[in-house]
Amino acid sequence: MELYLKITYLNDFIFCPLSIYFHQLYGDLAERLYYDNPQLDGKAAHSAIDEKRYSTHKNILQGIDVYSDKYKLCGKIDIFDNEKGLLTERKKHIETIYDGYVFQLYAQCLCLREMGYNVKSIRFYSTDDNKVYPQKLPEENPKMLEKFKRTNQEIQLFDVDSYEPKNPDKCRHCIYNDFCDRPLVPKAYRGGT
Ligand code: SF4
Repeated sequence: MELYLKITYLNDFIFCPLSIYFHQLYGDLAERLYYDNPQLDGKAAHSAIDEKRYSTHKNILQGIDVYSDKYKLCGKIDIFDNEKGLLTERKKHIETIYDGYVFQLYAQCLCLREMGYNVKSIRFYSTDDNKVYPQKLPEENPKMLEKFKRTNQEIQLFDVDSYEPKNPDKCRHCIYNDFCDRPLVPKAYRGGT
């Protein structure tokens, strides 16, 4: 049986390949223990999309399931304006556009296209400060598309047993630190009550 990877794994994998496994095992619990209220508020805002509360306009597709046979990926899109061909991924606050963000947007775009939708432009939207970050389409940025394909391939072939973490800073700020069997350093103290 062929396995389809979740689109969200692309970002997790770049942070640390092991985090995919701990996300699956402890996802909600780790988030509740780690995130403070504003971050959870952000997640609640995003859930409006999952629950299809964002818009009732017939040209706006919200939180629909998408998949790609070619890349063996599946997941959900955030918002797609079918009339404009505009795909938007909202995030609570964007300071840096990480490769993992772009890979997720590419994955959504490629899945939609494989399903027959005409995606003409892609972008991020930072809800906190109301900023829009347009991105090049995959075919307009061959270098990034190649990185996306390579990362996707690496996830498919990843061997969890032989993986050795290398970046203590990531472990220090990782929400799965308490659950992980090989963190390089203890979790950073977050304070609070
Ligand atoms: S604690 Fe370190 S090795 Fe473990 S999942 Fe987090 S980043 Fe990866």
